[in-house]
Amino acid sequence: MTDQYLVAVVGAGPAGMFGARELANAGARVVLFNRDIKPGGLAEYGVYPNKHKMKDGFRKQFRQALANDNLTYYGNIKVGAQGDLTFDDLRALGFQAILVTVGAQGTKWLGLPGEDLEGVYHAKDLVYHYNKLPPFSQKQFHLGKRCAIIGAGNVMLDIAYYMAREIKAEEVIAVVRRGPGEVNFTKEEMTRMIAYLDLDAFEAEMTRVLPALQAVNQDPELGRHKVLDAQSKAEPKTSESRFRFEFLTSPVQMIGENGALTKLEVEDNILVEKNGDLKSRGTGHKRTLDVDTVVFAIGDKVDDSIGLPSDSTEFIKNPSPRFPIDGTSYEAFDPKASAPIQDIFVGGWARKASEGLVGVARKDGTNASKAVWQYLQTMQPTSVNLEAVAEKVKSTGRQIVTKEDVQKLEAAEAAEAQKRGLEEFKYATNEEMLAATGMTVSAQPS
Ligand SMILES: Cc1cc2nc3c(=O)[nH]c(=O)nc-3n(C[C@H](O)[C@H](O)[C@H](O)COP(=O)(O)OP(=O)(O)OC[C@H]3O[C@@H](n4cnc5c(N)ncnc54)[C@H](O)[C@@H]3O)c2cc1C
Repeated sequence: MTDQYLVAVVGAGPAGMFGARELANAGARVVLFNRDIKPGGLAEYGVYPNKHKMKDGFRKQFRQALANDNLTYYGNIKVGAQGDLTFDDLRALGFQAILVTVGAQGTKWLGLPGEDLEGVYHAKDLVYHYNKLPPFSQKQFHLGKRCAIIGAGNVMLDIAYYMAREIKAEEVIAVVRRGPGEVNFTKEEMTRMIAYLDLDAFEAEMTRVLPALQAVNQDPELGRHKVLDAQSKAEPKTSESRFRFEFLTSPVQMIGENGALTKLEVEDNILVEKNGDLKSRGTGHKRTLDVDTVVFAIGDKVDDSIGLPSDSTEFIKNPSPRFPIDGTSYEAFDPKASAPIQDIFVGGWARKASEGLVGVARKDGTNASKAVWQYLQTMQPTSVNLEAVAEKVKSTGRQIVTKEDVQKLEAAEAAEAQKRGLEEFKYATNEEMLAATGMTVSAQPS
C-alpha cells in the first residue's frame, strides 16, 4: 500500500464536506468526524424546512462528496477538549493535519436582564428545533401570540416566517438596532414575509424614524426599497399574522411575571456616522412592547470549549499566515505561545462566525483545505492505519454512523415520507435515526 497524507476534518457542514472533498481529490486520505448523525450542518439543520429543492440540491452534493473512496465518515462523534476524541488523540493516530469546520456553535447573548425567562430564546436553538436536530428537537419552546425578533438579517426573517406560518402568531415585530437603510436581509428572503407586512404600520414607522434618517442625510427611499422591493414577488400568506418593524430600537431588558416573559423594554436610537459607517446610539428614551416571545437573531459565535483559543466570537487565526489563500489566514493560533498551532486549520463558520450562505462556507472550506494541502507539502506522506482509527473510534462507546448508515437512514426517511404522503420526513431523535440504520440502540455516553 502506498503512503498517503492523513487528514482529519472535524465537522461535516458545507465547509467540512467541500474541504474534505478537495483534500480527498488531491490524494489525501481523509477521515471526516461529525457531531451530528447526518452530514450537512446548517444546510440540513438551518436552511428553512420547506426549501425542499435547495436542501435536496445540497444533499445530493454531499452524497457525491461522501462517495469519494479516499474519504471515511464517522457521524455521532464529537472531537475537542470535551469531546469523545481530543486533538491529541487524532495526532496519536497519525493524523498529519486537522481541519476544524465545526461551525459557530456558541450562543451570543447580549447579557441583558431577563434572558433566562421562559419565552426568551436564541435563534439557533429554535432553528435547530424546527429542523429536527436532536436534542433541540426534543426541547419545549413556549412560543406565544406576540413575538419580537431582535435582528435585521435573513435569520430574523426565517424566524418571522416560522412564527407567521407555523405558530400563526398574531404579531411578529422585527426589532432593528439601526434604520431601514441598514437592514441585512436579501430581497429573495423578504418575498416570503412581505405579504404579512402591515403596510400602514410600516409607513407610520418610516415617518417616526424620518428625522433620524434626515440627520445623517439618508434618503428614506433607500430603506423603503430594501423592504418593499420584494412586493413584486410576494409569496402568498398562510395566516393572518401581522409583521412590522421597530427601526432604530435596541432591547434593554426582558420583563416577566412568574418566570414567563410579558414585556420587552427597548430604547430608541439615532444614527451616527463613524468611520464612514452608520452606527446606532441610544437616546435614553425607553418604552415597552407587550410580547410573550423574544428571539435573538443576532448571529452566533464559536464554541471555544473545543479547545482552540478564541477572542470570544472567533477562533484566533495566525496573523502572519504561513499558507495564506487569497490573503486569508486559515491557521489556528495560540496567542500565549505567540505561535500558530502547527497542524490545526479552521474554515467556514468556524473561521468567521455567521458569515454568509452555503456557497460562502463551501468556498471557505475549500480554501482552508488548500492551505492544509500546502502545509502537507512540507512533510512526507505516511503509512495510513485506518484500522487503528476505527478501533479508537469504537473504543469511545458511541454508536458511530458510517456513510453506508447515512445511506440507509436517507432511504428509510424517503420511504417514510412516501408512506405518509409528505415531501420530506425526518426522524427527530438520535434513537430513531440509529434504529433506521438497523443498529440496536444502546445508551450513549453523554
Ligand atoms: C437559520 C439559518 C438559515 C440559513 N438559510 C440558508 C439558506 O436558505 N441558504 C443558504 O445558502 N444558506 C443558509 N444559511 C447559511 C448556511 O447554513 C451556512 O453558511 C453554512 O451551513 C455554514 O457551514 P459550516 O460548514 O461552516 O458550518 P455548519 O453548517 O454549522 O456545520 C458545522 C458541522 O460541524 C459539526 N460539529 C460541531 N461541533 C463539532 C465537534 N466538536 N466535533 C465534530 N463535529 C462537530 C456539526 O455537527 C455540523 O455538522 C442559513 C443559516 C442559518 C443559521
